[in-house]
Amino acid sequence: MSHQASTTEAAVAQRATREHNWAGNYTYRADRLHRPTTLEQVRELVANAPRIRVLGSRHSFNGIGDSSELLTLDGLAPDVSIDHDANTVSFAGGLKYGQLAEALNAEGFALSNLASLPHISVAGAVATATHGSGDANGNLATAVAGLELVTSSGDIVTARRGEPDFDGLVVGLGALGAVTRITLDVEPAYQVRQRVFEGLTWEALFEHFDAITSSGYSVSVFTRSGETTDQVWVKSRVTGAPEELRTDLFGARAATAEQHPILGMDPVNSTAQLGAPGRWSDRLAHFRMGFAPSAGDEIQSEYFVPRRRAIAAIEALRSLADAIRPILQVCEIRTIAADKLWMSPQYGQDTVGIHFTWKRDEDGVKRVLADVEAVLAPFAPRPHWGKLFLADATALARLYERLPDFARLVERLDPRGAFRNEWLESHILIRRR
Ligand SMILES: Cc1cc2nc3c(=O)[nH]c(=O)nc-3n(C[C@H](O)[C@H](O)[C@H](O)COP(=O)(O)OP(=O)(O)OC[C@H]3O[C@@H](n4cnc5c(N)ncnc54)[C@H](O)[C@@H]3O)c2cc1C
Repeated sequence: MSHQASTTEAAVAQRATREHNWAGNYTYRADRLHRPTTLEQVRELVANAPRIRVLGSRHSFNGIGDSSELLTLDGLAPDVSIDHDANTVSFAGGLKYGQLAEALNAEGFALSNLASLPHISVAGAVATATHGSGDANGNLATAVAGLELVTSSGDIVTARRGEPDFDGLVVGLGALGAVTRITLDVEPAYQVRQRVFEGLTWEALFEHFDAITSSGYSVSVFTRSGETTDQVWVKSRVTGAPEELRTDLFGARAATAEQHPILGMDPVNSTAQLGAPGRWSDRLAHFRMGFAPSAGDEIQSEYFVPRRRAIAAIEALRSLADAIRPILQVCEIRTIAADKLWMSPQYGQDTVGIHFTWKRDEDGVKRVLADVEAVLAPFAPRPHWGKLFLADATALARLYERLPDFARLVERLDPRGAFRNEWLESHILIRRR
């Protein structure tokens, strides 16, 4: 294709007055934000940009999505298409989970899982291996059955599950190209009940860890690092079988009023609880579309440890409770099943995710992260790609056996380095001379 510059006609390029991420803790350095409305425009913009990145819904907390030029794909027509025989749905690269869920519900279909919020773009979530919870549930990237991306030459590459390199392409960290179309597995729509249990003791959590994380389809333990955990959120799929509405979970009492994951906050933005059945899309996330999710004024970090070592890792972290507590809003513990995606923190191992929603004290958070990463080091912690962490490329290379293959894939698909950025060169790839 032609690499001649005619991007003016191709898309509106805004000279951005410094764009921010959702949390406001990161200011993108880019001074151009393009909003193409067709695939041809995406191809032309990418092929002509010296350095470029696609922005999703900006819910990451670090510079993973930054570049000298940025592209948002939310101007592409959603073009949602369900394949009833293959049980898949395909759609354009700018769509958010909330929008996709509406389209799926209209046709009686569902996804197998969601993250804590439906506000995020599917492409951005997949690129960072975003996850929900559930002993048998992989992260959200494991639902990807196919991808279409525009590489730095402006060419279109498509890949389907099972093809060579597909497992390297999915959790692509935004480094391989602009994902313009995604195909996800779907299943018949189902209903979910959500119940919250309060005051689980640490002893009960450690003694009955497997029974607690398997007490529902998706289970989250929330704590502010106090004497007990605060809450256990249990999401169960509604089946035809009669259900026992338990009022106790290993000593924790079923809540009798709706809750926010951060105890004491107004639950107005939380998904419905108290065991009332509802659509999968209205229960699997913690936060409702149409409302601001989480606390808003926050920074997040998360580390994944091998499931079999999770209790020891959590106990080790509790030794830092006095340092963590002053800047912590809430900590969430979730389980995520193993997969084969090269850059997934779940690659080859069932994991437990230990997440921190911090107060907006970036320096304080970085100080505590140094201690957190030191205490977790014996457990080979893999950080969440979209959240704040300190580990550098040398440390992370030891944790990802397929990283050399990923680096070769980056080199092959993006030989001119258009999608490279500072974050990638600090944490994943060795900087080019
Ligand atoms: C309130 C809140 C709650 C959260 N809850 C969870 C949770 O429950 N579980 C969890 O795992 N994470 C969670 N996160 C983290 C979040 O899911 C990730 O940071 C995710 O990447 C956000 O998606 P995004 O669309 O905002 O991506 P962005 O932050 O915009 O981008 C992330 C990366 O994806 C790339 N990218 C985006 N779109 C494309 C595309 N079309 N083509 C190529 N590359 C692309 C970008 O270049 C960048 O590298 C939460 C974040 C917030 C703010």
